[in-house]
Amino acid sequence: MTTTPATVGEEWIRALPKAEVHLHLEGCVPYEVIAGTAAASGRPPPVPVTDGVPRVASLADLLSYLDWSCALVAEPEQLDEAAYRICARARASGAGHVDVILNPTHWPRWHGRLGAMVDALDAGFRAGEADHGATSALCVSLKRTQSRSEALEVVDRLLELAHPRVVALSIDGNEAGGRESHNDRFAPAFERAAAGGLRRCAHAGESSGPDGVREAIELLGAERIDHGIRCIEDPSVTALVASRGIPLDVCPSSNVVLGVVPALAAHPLPELRARGVRCSINTDDPLLYGVDLAGEYRATASAFGWGRAELAEMARVSIEASFADEDRRRELLRQLDAFL
Ligand SMILES: [Zn+2]
Repeated sequence: MTTTPATVGEEWIRALPKAEVHLHLEGCVPYEVIAGTAAASGRPPPVPVTDGVPRVASLADLLSYLDWSCALVAEPEQLDEAAYRICARARASGAGHVDVILNPTHWPRWHGRLGAMVDALDAGFRAGEADHGATSALCVSLKRTQSRSEALEVVDRLLELAHPRVVALSIDGNEAGGRESHNDRFAPAFERAAAGGLRRCAHAGESSGPDGVREAIELLGAERIDHGIRCIEDPSVTALVASRGIPLDVCPSSNVVLGVVPALAAHPLPELRARGVRCSINTDDPLLYGVDLAGEYRATASAFGWGRAELAEMARVSIEASFADEDRRRELLRQLDAFL
């Protein structure tokens, strides 16, 4: 049964058991954690910041703010704090698990020290889980501008590290340029990651079109697609995603801010759902857009006229699609069923 949006209260949305599976560490650095360092080093933010939220209106703004903020993180305590607050915010939105994407290329002060970086984050995630009950896992990401050998080096480092917090290989960055997405260059890295027991997800179908989504599935073996919404431009790719049951980690506000869709009301999420594509709702870079997960559920319900049934479906996919360990996924699904 579909209920009317009017019956979906804020409290219900926040209590709905769910997971978040598309969240970048780079978009989760609290302004307070870097403001002191920025002031002391005389490096003002590249875009205006209001109440700790940068005013990001384009991809260029987003990237310049990311470069600025990540470069100010040099101490383990800053990473620990950022990780801890991810768990606190997850709980506040009703998320029992978060998969966090970490792209080492964005963190100049940690180059060559991935192990130390993961250890610092791990401390924050452990404390956050103890205090807020939200589990978390890291997806270490390649950047699309990296070479084939650089990508393989990242995977070798991850396999050598064998840190239990790192569960997946991911890829992000601008998919456009040259042959649409160069996925063939990264195929060996994803193959090696899979052989080494890592899960796989990939950004596609945001700055790339449907071919990027098809390649992420066929060449990279992606088990989940971050964004993926532009598969809608090619019915054969939409059908491929639907028939394989590959979940799309959709981030509605991010898509609007970065101009992937003109407005939330024009977002293809309802159509993807109608065509049998499994979708979840996520925030991408919440502190850059000033959004939270519960707010994204509320905004989509209101834009699409969705009720409890549709939001519960998004929540179920988010848990099923998460890289939480099997026991944790089952536990969260049990919580969801009990709640409904
Ligand atoms: Zn993303």
